[in-house]
Amino acid sequence: MKAIPVFKCDMCGECCKLSPISLLPHEEIILRELSGLVGVEVKFSPGYTVYDAISGVNVAFSYILHLDENSKCPFLLGNKCSIHYIYKPYICRSFPYIPRHVRYSIDDVNKYITAEADYGLSLACHIVKRDKETLEKCALKQSVLVHYSRDEYLASVEAENTRLLLLYLLSLLWRKGLVDVKPSVPGVQVMSLYEFLRRYFPELPSRLSLDKVLIRVRKWSKNY
Ligand code: SF4
Ligand code: SF4
Repeated sequence: MKAIPVFKCDMCGECCKLSPISLLPHEEIILRELSGLVGVEVKFSPGYTVYDAISGVNVAFSYILHLDENSKCPFLLGNKCSIHYIYKPYICRSFPYIPRHVRYSIDDVNKYITAEADYGLSLACHIVKRDKETLEKCALKQSVLVHYSRDEYLASVEAENTRLLLLYLLSLLWRKGLVDVKPSVPGVQVMSLYEFLRRYFPELPSRLSLDKVLIRVRKWSKNY
């Protein structure tokens, strides 16, 4: 069997120009704060949403950060990520090991919401394209992928655990009768799942390490 190569990003920055950047709800808050500090304009849109019939708002499970007018991530300066050392979204940390599809499941009977993400290597990365043939000759597909892009795989596990934690907390509220989850309703206010949950779980910022990230962001801004 051929030796399995190991992925090493050469920081060409091409993946920051591919498509809008998919974010978990709390990451939208971090990037919004960072955009003010770095001085870039950002535009977000909610991704998957559900409606809470008790509070009358749509709750966003994900967001997308739009590319700028030059068809690149607004945080890309030259070919470098300007927030690389402060906060990098999960999707950027896991690239080229990316979710091709995220499927949310809503169980109305047991009042439980979960998600399943289908990950794979992106051929949009020229390093993956270069290694494709060798990787295809290796057996044990999943373990080869984990060996090939270990750090990126670990970032994907962290991302999916965080996604599941947020959905689990919403499910708890649903079972307690504090929310009533329905399909999203057009035209009503949209609230991020993170902000929504924070009203019931004040410890959420520390559970997600968001408080530490924001302290780092503010410290960094003093030296910027
Ligand atoms: S396209 Fe591939 S090599 Fe280039 S920055 Fe992205 S992950 Fe790294
Ligand atoms: S946040 Fe940084 S790594 Fe992610 S797409 Fe933007 S510039 Fe690239």
